[in-house]
Amino acid sequence: MHEPTVSTRPATPAISVAGLTKRYGDRTAVDQLSFELPRGVVAGFIGPNGAGKTTTMAMLLGLVAPTTGSGTVLGQPLDSPCRYLPRVGALIEGPAMYPGLTGTENLRVLAAMGKRDASRIPVVLEQVGLADRAGDRFREYSMGMKQRLGIAGALLGDPELLVLDEPTNGLDPVGMHEIRNLIGDISSADTTVLVSSHQLGEVEQVCDWLIVIERGTGVFSGPAADFLGGAEPSVVVAPEHIADLDRLGRLLAAEGYELDREDDRLVVLIGERDARALAIGINRLAHEHGLVLAALEQRRANLEDRYLSLVQGGIR
Ligand code: ATP
Repeated sequence: MHEPTVSTRPATPAISVAGLTKRYGDRTAVDQLSFELPRGVVAGFIGPNGAGKTTTMAMLLGLVAPTTGSGTVLGQPLDSPCRYLPRVGALIEGPAMYPGLTGTENLRVLAAMGKRDASRIPVVLEQVGLADRAGDRFREYSMGMKQRLGIAGALLGDPELLVLDEPTNGLDPVGMHEIRNLIGDISSADTTVLVSSHQLGEVEQVCDWLIVIERGTGVFSGPAADFLGGAEPSVVVAPEHIADLDRLGRLLAAEGYELDREDDRLVVLIGERDARALAIGINRLAHEHGLVLAALEQRRANLEDRYLSLVQGGIR
C-alpha cells in the first residue's frame, strides 16, 4: 500500500546559539554571537579575514570550548558534542589526507577513525564527482579535487548538518564553481549546510540564508533575501557639467526626491516609486531647466554592496 507522505523534518533548528563568546587572553575572537539556523537551508557564514568564522565553527564542532554562551546543534546542547557529532559532517582548515594514499584509501582511514560506514565510500565519491579518480593518489589531485575529497569525507556519515570552513579557499574560478555546484547538489530538506567564506560573491548563488560576522560580532542573520532588502535601489544622475550638480540637486530636492551626493553624481532613492517614472520625471525636470544629463541609470541593490556597507573590513 502506498504510504502517505509525512514530513519528518524535525522542528528544532539545525543550530541555535545565544551569546556565544570566545576569548583568547585579551583577544575576543567571537563576541556575544547569537543566531538560529533553520533546518534544510544552505547558510553562508560570511565575514572578513579574522572575523571569527573558524573559531565559531570550531565551537559548534566541540573543538574549542566557548568562554561563555550556550546553544544547541541538531537539538542537542553545545556542551555535549558527542550527542550530536555523529550526525554532523565537517571540513575545517582544509582536508588532512595522506598524500601517498589514493582517494578511496584516504576515505577508508577517515571512516575507520570517525567510526563512519565505509560502505558509503563509493556513494560519496560519486556524489563529489571523484568516482573515476578514486584510485589516484591524493598528491596527484588538483586543489579542487583535494577539496572535493575532503567534502566526501565529511559526507561519509550521511550528515544532517554539514559544516564547511572556506571550502573555496585557494581555488581558481573553475574550482570555486565546482564546489558551489556541489554544495547546491548536497543541500536538501534533510541536510543543512553551513559554509564559511570571506567573500560573499563566492557563495551567494547557493545560499538561501546568511550569517554575517565582523570582528567577532554578528551583524546580520536571516534569509538572504532579507539581507538584500536592507539595501536601497536608486537612480544615479549626473549633469553634463559638474558645475551644475548643486543646482540639479536643489531642483530634485525641491520636487521632494530623497537624494545623496556621490562624487560627481547624485543618487536618488527610488523608495516606493516606479523606477521608470522616476527616471522620466528627473529627465523632464532637468530639461525644463536647461540641464543636459550625462548619466541617468538605475542602480540595483547588490548583495556585495550591502555586505561591504555592513563590514568595514580590516584584517585582525
Ligand atoms: P579567516 O577568514 O582568516 O580564516 P576567521 O573569520 O575564520 O578568519 P578566526 O580564525 O576565527 O577568524 O580568528 C578570529 C580571531 O581570533 C583572530 O583575531 C585570530 O587571530 C584569533 N584567534 C583564533 N584562534 C586563536 C588562538 N588559538 N589563539 C589566539 N588567538 C586566536
